[in-house]
Amino acid sequence: MSAPETVSLVIKARWIAPVVPENRVFEHCALIVDKGVIRALVPQEEADKRFDAEQTIFLGNHLLTPGLVNAHGHAAMSLLRGLADDLPLKTWLEQYIWPTENRWVNEDMVRDGTELAMAEMIRSGTTCFSDMYFFPGQAAQAAQQAHMRAHIHFPVFDMPSAWGQDAEDYLRKGLSLHDDFRAHPLVRVGFGPHAPYTASDDTLKRVATLAQELDAPIQIHLHETAQEVTDSLNEHGKRPSQRLAELGLLSPLTQCVHMTQVDDSDVRLLSEHGAHVVHCPESNLKLASGFCPVQRLLDEGINVALGTDGAASNNDLSLLGEMKTAALLAKAVAGRADALDAHGALRMATLNGARALGLEDRIGSLEVGKSADVIAVELSDLSSQPIYNPVSQLVYTDSSHRVSHAWVAGKALLLSRQLQTLNERELIGKARWWAKQIGNQR
Ligand SMILES: [Zn+2]
Repeated sequence: MSAPETVSLVIKARWIAPVVPENRVFEHCALIVDKGVIRALVPQEEADKRFDAEQTIFLGNHLLTPGLVNAHGHAAMSLLRGLADDLPLKTWLEQYIWPTENRWVNEDMVRDGTELAMAEMIRSGTTCFSDMYFFPGQAAQAAQQAHMRAHIHFPVFDMPSAWGQDAEDYLRKGLSLHDDFRAHPLVRVGFGPHAPYTASDDTLKRVATLAQELDAPIQIHLHETAQEVTDSLNEHGKRPSQRLAELGLLSPLTQCVHMTQVDDSDVRLLSEHGAHVVHCPESNLKLASGFCPVQRLLDEGINVALGTDGAASNNDLSLLGEMKTAALLAKAVAGRADALDAHGALRMATLNGARALGLEDRIGSLEVGKSADVIAVELSDLSSQPIYNPVSQLVYTDSSHRVSHAWVAGKALLLSRQLQTLNERELIGKARWWAKQIGNQR
């Protein structure tokens, strides 16, 4: 027999749901990690014989899954959580969110808000997030420092904001940031044209061309409300999806966020162009925006990922909670109890997210050769008993507070519920300070 091979980390878990192969749960197995990459998934006795680990972690009551991918959000808006609730999108944006942002958004706010959001996301199992917000350089640096995987989409508008004057200015600053992170192993910078109604044809065409040249991702809010579609029909004589397709903006690089208003022509366009949909059920419910027909899109072969949207319209950043909402809502919308089952919801929050971000060869499943982006969820408390199917427990019971461990590329971000790369107490102090400033002078 050959000598055991030395590896950096062995995680032994009661259950492992690797997402690929589909719908499987392995029991009493071990995930073998070396230099940040998954080397093997084998029974624990085999792991003892074949591998000599520098570090072994035994998780006797835990389910191991791929780290969750939060495919859409505005991390810094966690500082605006609960600022304005119970309002429709237009009123909420125009009368509350945009005026507050114009007054308060700056480098410090984005840095502190993004860190607060990352802490919340890591604690609830997210290891990769896709973001769109002002001062994206601050978000990119914060992600780099916390060792989180992130896609940072710099905003593109025609109108001015605290971060830019006009489309040209946003693009110039964004492209420079893209260059700064070109070779970064965890952080990637893409284009974030806010929505079809905040950018002209020329601006959107420019984004499409630049993104193709750089092979960079695009994230855009699309068909969020019925009003958006009606306004576009009045102004441009076509649905927003048709307009984007004609401008070259729908492609496998494009993440279409929301899609609550979908007809046959939209399905055909998404499918033909290979664009991804990012479903944000809780934000859509809270703003009464509508319902994304998730099961229908999946049946048509369209990739649907999952996002929380910003904490100002959710109001939490737990993708586990979002999985439960997505699974329940899909059944209501499809009128079928078998729509989006538990494994399907987990796949949406992991592999589908990875696909939407163009990262499916690196993350989204616990397969040999992929990066060790992994989470552990402890299933030992009263409300998770008894356990017939741990993935059912993960999706259909309240499991956000059960996340105990998280790793990105083999580096621990959360150990026994303790954040390793962010300071929780400091973040709470900063959030309270911002609430005082914003609350007093809004
Ligand atoms: Zn959004």
